[in-house]
Amino acid sequence: MRTPDHIVVGAGAAGCAVAAGLVEQHGATVLLLEAGPTGRDPRLSIPAAASDLWFGRYDWAYETEPQPGLGGRRDTWPRGRVLGGSTAINAMMYVRGMDTDFDEWEACGASGWGAAEMTAAFRRLEDDVRGPADHRGVGGPVRIEHQRDPSPLTTAFLDACEELGIPRVDDYHADPDGCGLTMVTQRVGRRWSAADAFLRPLLRARDPRLILRTDVEVDRIVVEGGRAVGVEAVVDGRRRVARATAGVVLAAGTVESPHLLLRSGIGPAAHLRERGVEVVADLPGVGENLQDHVLSGVAAGTDGDSLYGADRDLGALARYVRRRRGRLTSNLAEAIAFVRTGADEPLPDVELMALPVALRDHGRTRFPEHGLTIGAILLRPESRGRIRLRGTAPGQPPRIDPRTCEDPDGVDLRRLRDGVRWCQRLVTETAALGGRVTHLIEPSRRLTDAAELTAHVRRTVQTLYHPVGTCRIGTDDLAVVDPRLRVHGFDGLWVADASVMPTVPRGHTQATAMAIGDRFARELVS
Ligand SMILES: Cc1cc2nc3c(=O)[nH]c(=O)nc-3n(C[C@H](O)[C@H](O)[C@H](O)COP(=O)(O)OP(=O)(O)OC[C@H]3O[C@@H](n4cnc5c(N)ncnc54)[C@H](O)[C@@H]3O)c2cc1C
Repeated sequence: MRTPDHIVVGAGAAGCAVAAGLVEQHGATVLLLEAGPTGRDPRLSIPAAASDLWFGRYDWAYETEPQPGLGGRRDTWPRGRVLGGSTAINAMMYVRGMDTDFDEWEACGASGWGAAEMTAAFRRLEDDVRGPADHRGVGGPVRIEHQRDPSPLTTAFLDACEELGIPRVDDYHADPDGCGLTMVTQRVGRRWSAADAFLRPLLRARDPRLILRTDVEVDRIVVEGGRAVGVEAVVDGRRRVARATAGVVLAAGTVESPHLLLRSGIGPAAHLRERGVEVVADLPGVGENLQDHVLSGVAAGTDGDSLYGADRDLGALARYVRRRRGRLTSNLAEAIAFVRTGADEPLPDVELMALPVALRDHGRTRFPEHGLTIGAILLRPESRGRIRLRGTAPGQPPRIDPRTCEDPDGVDLRRLRDGVRWCQRLVTETAALGGRVTHLIEPSRRLTDAAELTAHVRRTVQTLYHPVGTCRIGTDDLAVVDPRLRVHGFDGLWVADASVMPTVPRGHTQATAMAIGDRFARELVS
C-alpha cells in the first residue's frame, strides 16, 4: 500500500466528512481507520430498530463513573462502533442548534465558527426535501426528510403543545420557540448515515484514494519531533504502525479522541505521570470541559397507537419491506418542542421530545403496553465533566465522569425539574394528549413537590448521547485545538469531531459534527 497523505481515525459523523472532503477537494489519498465493522446488518437501516442496536456489537457501550448527581448510579453511554459511527445507530433527528450557540463559540475564541459560517456549512451539506430557504440547503450529501408515518400520538403531542401555548412552527431552525415534527436523516424510510452521505459515492466508484480499513482500533498516535507521522494499532494480536505523509486527523469522537491523545502522552502532565504514561506534551485541557445533554421525563399508558409490539408485528415488517412505510419507519423521537423554564431565559433552555412508546433507561425497559414517553432535555447544561485514562492496555476504556447535575448552583436540576413539570402538564392537563392517556407509569402519579421532583430526576436522568467539548477549540491555556483544528504545539495533528465544540449547541449534535468534519476538509486543512 502506498503511504497515504492523511490518516483519519474514526469513520463517524465527522470522520466520513473529513475523509471524503480530503479526497474530493484536495485529491489526497486517505487511510480511514474504523474500530467497528462495515455493518451489513439490516437493522442498521430500519429506523425503528435503532434502540435494538444499543449495547450490542455496534456499540462501545461505555459506563460512566458513579455519579453523585444521579444518586450514585452509573449511566451507560452508547456510542456507534461501526462504519458511520454514532450516525449508524442514532435516532436520526436533524436539529442543528441555534445561531446564538455558534456566535457564543466565536466569542469565546473559536474564531471563524460563528453562526454565519456554520449556517453556510449546514446549507452546503443539506439535501432537505422541503426545498431551499435562507437557512436551508438542497443538493448536498445529507438527506433530510419528513417522517413517513408518524404516530397519531405524536400529532396529539403537538396539539397538546399548542394547547399549552407552544406554537407549531414549520421549520424549527427558522423559529427556535415552537414545536414540530422532527426532520430525519432518512432516505425513503431508510437510515441515511454519514457513511451513506459521504463515503458511499467514493466506495461505489472504488476510488483508490480512499483506503478504508474497518475492525482496526487505533491505540496511539506516533509522534516524531513534534509532528504526528502515523498511528499504532493492534491488529490480530500484532502491533502495527501505519504512516502518513501529511498527518493524522482524529475523528474518533468526544470519548475516544481525547482518550487517544492521553494514551499518546498528550494531556495534563500530572495525570499522565500518575498513569505511568511518558509525557509528550503538557496540554492540560485534553479530556476536560465534557458537556452532555441529559434528559428526564414521564412515561404514560395510552389507549393505543404506540410502537408497542411493532418489533413482533409481521404486518408492520411487510409494510416496511414492500413500501417503506408504517411503524418501522419511526425514528422513535418523532416530535420536539422548545420551551423556556423562566421568563428571563434568553432562549429556550429545555427541549421536550415525544416518543410514541413507553420506556425507560435507554429503552432497556419497554413497558408492556401502549404508551408514550416525553423527555425534557437540558439544552445548555452548566455541569462540566472529564475523560481520563483508566489504564493503557489496548482496548481499555477511559474513565468517563460527566458530573451530571453537579453544577454548584443547582441550575441543571432546577431546569430539569421544570422540564418534567412541562411533561406532566402535557399528559395531564391537555385535551389532545390527556384525553388519550389512560394512566401515568413513571412517575406513577403527578409530582408537584420540589423534593419529589428532584428525587425523580436523580433516579431517571440519563444521557441524550450528545457529549462534546473534550478537545475544545480556542486559543487559551485549556484549549486543545486552534480554530483551524490543529492540536496546539504539534504539526500534522488535528482533531475534527464533536469533541472540539466549545459548548453543546441547543440542538442535536450530528449536524454540527458533520459540519465540523466537512469544514475542516474544505476550508481549514492546508
Ligand atoms: C444512541 C445515540 C442516539 C443519538 N441520536 C441523535 C439524533 O437523533 N440526532 C443527532 O443529531 N445526534 C444524535 N446522536 C449524536 C450524534 O450521533 C453524535 O453527536 C455524532 O455522531 C458525533 O460525531 P463524531 O464524529 O464526533 O463521533 P461518532 O459519530 O461517534 O464517530 C466516531 C467514530 O470513531 C470510531 N473510533 C473511536 N475510537 C476509535 C479508535 N481508537 N480507532 C478507530 N476508530 C475509532 C468509532 O467507532 C466511531 O465510528 C446520537 C448518538 C447516539 C450514540
